[in-house]
Amino acid sequence: ITVTDLVNESYNRIDEVDGKVRAFLTLGKEQALARAGALDEKLGTDDSRGLLFGLPIGVKDNIVTEGLTTTCASQFLRNYDPIYSATVVKKLQEADAVTIGKLNMDEFAMGGSNENSSFHPTYNPWNTEYVPGGSSGGSAASVAAGEVFFSLGSDTGGSIRQPASYCGVVGLKPTYGLVSRFGLVAFASSLDQIGPLTKNVEDSAYLLQAIAGHDPSDSTSLNVDVPDYLSALTGDVKGLRVAVPKEYVGQGIDPKVKEAVQAALKTLESLGAIVEEVSLPHTEYAVATYYLLASSEASSNLARFDGVRYGVRADNPKNLLDVYLRSRSEGFGDEVKRRIMLGTYALSSGYYDAYYLKAQKVRTLIKRDFDQVFENYDVVIGPTAPTPAFKIGSQTSDPLTMYLNDILTIPVSLAGIPAISVPCGLADGLPVGLQIIGKALDEATVLRVAHAYE
Ligand code: GLN
Repeated sequence: ITVTDLVNESYNRIDEVDGKVRAFLTLGKEQALARAGALDEKLGTDDSRGLLFGLPIGVKDNIVTEGLTTTCASQFLRNYDPIYSATVVKKLQEADAVTIGKLNMDEFAMGGSNENSSFHPTYNPWNTEYVPGGSSGGSAASVAAGEVFFSLGSDTGGSIRQPASYCGVVGLKPTYGLVSRFGLVAFASSLDQIGPLTKNVEDSAYLLQAIAGHDPSDSTSLNVDVPDYLSALTGDVKGLRVAVPKEYVGQGIDPKVKEAVQAALKTLESLGAIVEEVSLPHTEYAVATYYLLASSEASSNLARFDGVRYGVRADNPKNLLDVYLRSRSEGFGDEVKRRIMLGTYALSSGYYDAYYLKAQKVRTLIKRDFDQVFENYDVVIGPTAPTPAFKIGSQTSDPLTMYLNDILTIPVSLAGIPAISVPCGLADGLPVGLQIIGKALDEATVLRVAHAYE
């Protein structure tokens, strides 16, 4: 088998199923085949081969790719062709992976169902009446539907883990700062992380290995040695201490999700892990804290979209103010406008102390909850989301209900720590995700536990 065969196979599968799944926004077939041809020349020679040699990968459309339109699923950027590639994309190239195309998402990564894409929704491959989750819904669905071997997503409050859970794939949000965000279009800079969506845990370790590491182009990138994640997959969890927060298996969690998670915990116990209940007492404040902080940062980050520097500009503007006002009114969708307004309000003088500053303080309390538990435990485990995937259209009229789907992923984002979602069975025929949360920079343990369970 050649790389060209593999890449063609990926496009054939896309031809076959993407009319129903609609995971992709842009395909880069010509470039991908040219690259495959170049990689094929290495076959049968002594040339060194990268870690991901020849493997077809999809990239979320908020990660910039030279030569491939990068829209963030927004009308504002529908014509934006980046003049450079994100560090992660360069690292994929160095690892000899082949980028197949760009994946659908909620506009600017704001949402949890992919229904906020300004182009079209993505459909859950398990049942196309259901959402794939979001905001990396295209990334999760493309892997679940077998269109690519793996994909990159981004996670600000759960956007890798929640769609992984809904689509029955593995999604890893690394420690804040482990993976470079140079070239990731910023949503909430103190939270955003890029990470892998894959079929299994071993693939996740491979992809993380390829993209992790210090990048001088990203001022928040950590200057640490990257461990060997593959050698962490020992299958051994004997004596491992697992904490289950009572807030993660309490009220508001679908009983069938609870059942699947309890069964997974039993499996880990049978492998020798010690499972105990703990409390993360500030969990109930996480959603409010996140939506204040993330919206505040978004209102500041999205100020760059002014109709002058990037993307589309309103036709026939009367003056400069008109350029700004109309470009933004026409370019952004409703959810993005809602976040910008909420964030601008929270940051305005007179409200700053009551909202933004208060939220920062609560964020510290949430982080301390985890610090305390990690003094005595190796990992924290619970569900990834309170329910399996929901029906398309069933939550669009009520943003608050939609926000509450993130209750179990947001605390991890606020604490900046790593977490993985692995499939742990079905509820009503739809996948359920198990969330395994680790200490900062302890992806190796997170992957080890996920691999042993899987
Ligand atoms: N659903 C959350 C939100 O709408 C998380 C999004 C994300 O992680 N990018 O903000």
